[in-house]
Amino acid sequence: MKTSDKMYGISEDFIRAVPKTDLHVHIDGSLRLSTLIELAKELKVKLPSYTVEGLKKLVFKEHYQSLIDYLRGFKYTDDVMQNAEALERIAYELALDCFADGVRYIEPRFAPQLHANKDFSIEDVLEATNRGLAKAKKEINNSKQIKDGKEPPFAYGIIGCALRMFNEHYSDYYDNFVHAHLFSTDDERFAMASLELAKALIRIRDAFGIPIVAFDLAGAEAGYPAENHQASYQYVHKNFLKKTVHAGEAYGAASIFQAITDLHADRIGHGTYLFDETKVELPTKDERKKYIYDLSQYIADSRITLEISLTSNLQTNPELRDISKHPCKKMLDQKLSVTFCTDNRLISNTTSTKEFKLAADTFGLNREQLKDIIAYGFKRSFYPGEYSEKRAYVRQVLNFYEKLENKFFKA
Ligand SMILES: [Zn+2]
Repeated sequence: MKTSDKMYGISEDFIRAVPKTDLHVHIDGSLRLSTLIELAKELKVKLPSYTVEGLKKLVFKEHYQSLIDYLRGFKYTDDVMQNAEALERIAYELALDCFADGVRYIEPRFAPQLHANKDFSIEDVLEATNRGLAKAKKEINNSKQIKDGKEPPFAYGIIGCALRMFNEHYSDYYDNFVHAHLFSTDDERFAMASLELAKALIRIRDAFGIPIVAFDLAGAEAGYPAENHQASYQYVHKNFLKKTVHAGEAYGAASIFQAITDLHADRIGHGTYLFDETKVELPTKDERKKYIYDLSQYIADSRITLEISLTSNLQTNPELRDISKHPCKKMLDQKLSVTFCTDNRLISNTTSTKEFKLAADTFGLNREQLKDIIAYGFKRSFYPGEYSEKRAYVRQVLNFYEKLENKFFKA
């Protein structure tokens, strides 16, 4: 099988050409470097360098020492994303960049509370972001190929992230929030800010017609449990917003278990340590094994999709330096539903094409497997339209995909 798989030769050109999804992409981790520099100059934000080369050397690197090192870049990107013009531009450029890489459907995510301040409300933050995305979508879908129905259109849904933890330094909004709730504990503040965002997302989705499709929980996992966010997830659950949770990225299977049982997660961000027995706190080996087995079987059977970002996982988990050791292989072997995502196009220095190519090469994916995984990205997306429209869209994507397969592989 291996030889014939290799003979298929899944080339980078093919992967770039086929319609793909990116279901896990942080807006504030995916700026164009040139835009960051331009905005920093305009907004008088201090950067350690004002050249692309300089920033690549100092901040946005190929490899990182640790998660802390990886996260350093967000300080600069978030600092230039504090007004409507900047957010609109960054969202617009992100959609264009994804489309140029053959990505037809994206679910850009961000934490609106990191961008809001006294002159820039949560509604304005979401409106500005949506304006940028909608403008890109309109331009892209105006092409003759798409208008004639020869190619599937570009579409998107926005994901709003609550943070597992924050302090007054995170943003003006969080600074005010902390100071307005001085008599609450940290955990109580995390819960309140999360619920406030949940309410905002539902209201803004319903009143403004902005395609907000899901709620997410991001930020440091260890020590900041999902249970703080039960009320907010319950709230969005009751309001038919979909749910994804960063879990098992830096912490073990218990975090994934909580995401599913406490937060009703439809998808899991990363899930890297799902199979890691050393991270399960149960007394015996048999109990640890059973816990992981039951959990992974539940995930597989419920089709809870794991949003895998290989490059990012390698960069933030020093233990995973060798990509062939990534648990994705085991996830695929056990028939879990996975989708490949960039996480942060700038900070991880990656694209969807790179991620799918890396996966295909590392795990020896054949053409059928690649197609299944890509199709699953569309199927398990939180597409903002009606279900029947989503079905038609997925069909159109697959027809186009098959046309490209014929073109690339006609022997
Ligand atoms: Zn992420």
